[in-house]
Amino acid sequence: MSTSPLLEDLALARSTVDRSAHFRKDSEAMSRAWADTSSRVLPVYRGSASTTPENELRYLPTAAIAANTPVAFLGCESGVWYFCAFVDQEFVDQHDPESWRNLRVIGAVLNARDAGLLVTGVALANWHETHTHCPRCGIHTSVTDAGWTRTCPADNSVHFPRTDPAVIMLITDHQDRALLARQVRWQPGWLSVLAGFVESGESAEAAVVRETAEEAGVEVNPQTVQYLGSQPWPFPNSLMLGYQARASSKYSLEARIDLTVDGEEIAHAQWFSRSELIDASRAKEIHLPPPISIAHRLIVHWLGEPLPRESAFR
Ligand SMILES: [Zn+2]
Repeated sequence: MSTSPLLEDLALARSTVDRSAHFRKDSEAMSRAWADTSSRVLPVYRGSASTTPENELRYLPTAAIAANTPVAFLGCESGVWYFCAFVDQEFVDQHDPESWRNLRVIGAVLNARDAGLLVTGVALANWHETHTHCPRCGIHTSVTDAGWTRTCPADNSVHFPRTDPAVIMLITDHQDRALLARQVRWQPGWLSVLAGFVESGESAEAAVVRETAEEAGVEVNPQTVQYLGSQPWPFPNSLMLGYQARASSKYSLEARIDLTVDGEEIAHAQWFSRSELIDASRAKEIHLPPPISIAHRLIVHWLGEPLPRESAFR
């Protein structure tokens, strides 16, 4: 049994391919890699890729990708160069459209190589799609460094893929009950742990304390904030930083701590003991995040056992 204090094998944090980032600026090496008949391309469209019935991704030789399709270099493994191609609806229609599945749906069942490549491909695709123009002068930028930067032809400014850090945290009270909440836009009964974006100039640990106060009205003891692991969440461009923390010692040890939801992001919040959570989950009174999410893993980590299968809400 593992003794690591961190969450291991988070579904979207797995990857095996060496990113070989030093080749991105080497246009000669990139041209050779593209011309290599053993190179493989992963076509990506709107967060999805074509999959086999065995839940493996379908890769194509580079010759199958039209010359004007934007591509990015993903890395190298066992002598094979991997690229992704940002394809359109027409391409999907011509390539077994029924076989295309979204990363959210298949991320947890892919092997580590495929999971790592698709997460990166989807994250890059989302960035290219939404960052087409120079933030300084407004003109259209060019894709550079094998898909890893965009450069402005007017002022030569270089722009990098954007990743937004977000904290996600399981908060406990003095009797080790867990704080779960429902977002305003979720169906009744759907519950998860609290989460929120790290603000400019803020540490991740401070964001855990601030978001818990804002969303549920609970004061966290900053000395108990403990990092448990991270995974990319390219929906569209987050990095989820997982934490656990305990409520402030100012609260009474006997009574349940009152919760005050903000009503804007969080509609309902509730403390659960382990047995309350398992009972409510088995009775399908509540539904919890699916195994692909770090939220699921934080809950299981606290619970000390797998969640009932019927509990997942997506
Ligand atoms: Zn510019």
